[in-house]
Amino acid sequence: MLLHTSNLSIGGRSWRFEIAASPTYVTTHSEDYMRFILIACLLLTSFVIGFCLLSSGREHLLEILVHERSTEITLLHEQTTALENQALLAKIFHNIPGMVFQFKLFPDGHASLPLVSEGIGDLYELSADQVGEDASTLFARIHPDDYNQVVVSLQESARSEQPLQLEYRVLLPEKGLRWLSGLSRPEKFDDGSTVWYGFQSDITERKFAQKLAYETGEHLRLVLTAATGISVITTDVNGLITIFNPGAEQMLGYVATDMIGKQVPALFHLPEEVEQRGLELTLELGWPVSGFSIFVEKSLETGQEIREWTYVCKNGSRLLVSLCVTPIRNANHELEGFLGIATDISESKEYQDSIMLAKEQAEHFLQLKSQFIASMSHEIRTPMAAVIGFSQLALVNEMPDKIRLYLENINIASTSLLSILNDILDFSKLEVGRTIIEQQPFQLNALLDTLDKIFSISAQQQGLKFNLVLASNIPNNLIGDKLRLQQVLTNLLGNAIKFTTQGSVSLNITLQQIDLTQVRLLFCVTDTGIGISAEDQKKLFQPFSQVDGSITRRFGGTGLGLAISHKLMELMGSEFSLISNPELGSSFSFELVLGLSTSTISRQSHFETQGLVTIDQNLSGTRVLVVEDNLLIQQVVRGFLDPSGIIVTIANDGQEALVLLEQNEFDGVLMDIHMPIMNGFEATKQIRRLPQFAHLPVIALTAGVTVEEREQCLATGMNDFIPKPIDSKQLLMTLTQWLKPLS
Ligand code: ADP
Repeated sequence: MLLHTSNLSIGGRSWRFEIAASPTYVTTHSEDYMRFILIACLLLTSFVIGFCLLSSGREHLLEILVHERSTEITLLHEQTTALENQALLAKIFHNIPGMVFQFKLFPDGHASLPLVSEGIGDLYELSADQVGEDASTLFARIHPDDYNQVVVSLQESARSEQPLQLEYRVLLPEKGLRWLSGLSRPEKFDDGSTVWYGFQSDITERKFAQKLAYETGEHLRLVLTAATGISVITTDVNGLITIFNPGAEQMLGYVATDMIGKQVPALFHLPEEVEQRGLELTLELGWPVSGFSIFVEKSLETGQEIREWTYVCKNGSRLLVSLCVTPIRNANHELEGFLGIATDISESKEYQDSIMLAKEQAEHFLQLKSQFIASMSHEIRTPMAAVIGFSQLALVNEMPDKIRLYLENINIASTSLLSILNDILDFSKLEVGRTIIEQQPFQLNALLDTLDKIFSISAQQQGLKFNLVLASNIPNNLIGDKLRLQQVLTNLLGNAIKFTTQGSVSLNITLQQIDLTQVRLLFCVTDTGIGISAEDQKKLFQPFSQVDGSITRRFGGTGLGLAISHKLMELMGSEFSLISNPELGSSFSFELVLGLSTSTISRQSHFETQGLVTIDQNLSGTRVLVVEDNLLIQQVVRGFLDPSGIIVTIANDGQEALVLLEQNEFDGVLMDIHMPIMNGFEATKQIRRLPQFAHLPVIALTAGVTVEEREQCLATGMNDFIPKPIDSKQLLMTLTQWLKPLS
């Protein structure tokens, strides 16, 4: 500590200033002020010395004054300057930030403050006059908890004559609690009193900042210690470890003291993994990335990087960790190092893996279930084709009414069994997400024709009015999945007719919006039937849910129709809304966005052609090769074709078909798909390879009814397909379309 001392005595009063120049105590500002004071003191001292000299030789001076007028002027000038300097010194003294003081302690414990700067107002909310000869008012401001410490320190400083450095709290009437810091130097007098010369300043802000910094540091230390299971490692910019928390010790088995100052990657990372990542980054960034940069380069680019690494523990065991690296920057945004927080994810990885496995297994089982249902339905479909076919064939003949009724019932029952089968197959496909929504051109008129054909007769038979109303401003050529839309509408109309005993059932289609490429249509199926209670409406779209078991038994059904329609709606980006009142009826509606088609439809589907083609066309004498392994189906097909005079030849599999085609002339082929020895797809491919059969019509007979299966038939070179169970009318119409009648 450096103390500049300056003594002065004015009006018989002796002043002594001690100015501390300790770098730990005096702030930069204070240094400037001190320098000022020092210069001012020196000036003042020289003035006082001059003044004293001048006083002592007054007579001699008068002589000089008489003789030397010029000297008198000079002296007057000097006096004026000295007075000005004194005023300046007082100004400086009072304007020093903080409080400059002279404090006196008498042997009887009485204390006074003979000299104090105006800073006392700031530091103690007191004036110099309020303290003056009695410093007890000032002492009363000291915080009770710090009071003793202040008194003891004063006594100690007085005894040892050592400088007094104090920090204590004061309680002020206005500002409340403040922290003061002071430094002073004692001087002992013969009368036993001690005088301290020094100054004090308010350090409350610094104190709070220190407290905050301390607390933050403490909290951080607590967090680092408490974070068991989490490794927190910080490094400097070069990767030398600066913090290695207990979590890291626990995770890696190393002791912090051994790790501080060491390089990170080499120690607990897998060299090959680091090298691999280095290569990746080098390729990505286009410059060689190696060493510590491998761990931090991405975090510098993006502010943070989280990735999985393998940690190698001290005992050689390995851990899978998720490491989050963040650059540490100071207040000026300069890089100071890196923070790496790693969590052990070995277990959660195992857990995730097990969940993934369970999910995969569940999906696999769902697939298996779907496959099982698909193959079962295929297997059931074939014998059912026989039941439906034979009942149809039999009904053509004359028979007693009773037998006719039985046969009709067999036909109706097997047809409805088939629709149940279709529902189950459909639902299982929707469940495993295998249903694809087509975007193909179609004609809305044709779709309505089909619905009309399906429902108008049954509605009429029930005495219901049946209306299909299409707004005239709706374009006819649209793009979408016509079959799926038809399926939904069939379900809604079927239900409406099923659950309505009197009144009407209608489908209204209105235009909601149109632009150059698409339309938004509102489809609304309304009935005046039994209605659905609010309670029942909630479970309506759940699979296998039927509102009322007794009603269902009365009306039949699987409870799958609406669940399927609901899922199809979802796939088409829409949903149902339902207004229904028991006894009054129901109204199911949905909106659908469909594309606008400019192309004309090239290949018409069966339903669209149904009304157009007459089966009266003469097919008699045409030769058809029926490739089918199932004896029953062979008979059904023959039974359907014989009456039209078509000459039927049977092949039991694809290979036999190829042989027969080589030896005979045929006008067309009806080809089953699933057959032993050579299936229908393979046989068709082989037929198409032979130039003479390039234009031979090959029509699939397939139990597969999905769009994909249909597409597959066409892709292998078949011209069309007829779904099983075979409908005699549809079979003949399709043949009429493809076979050239004999003239
Ligand atoms: P289902 O094959 O049993 O008709 P759906 O899923 O199509 O299966 O319908 C489920 C149930 O919803 C029906 O059993 C019936 O209780 C009720 N429901 C559907 N549509 C109507 C309607 N228009 N009027 C009254 N009830 C209906």
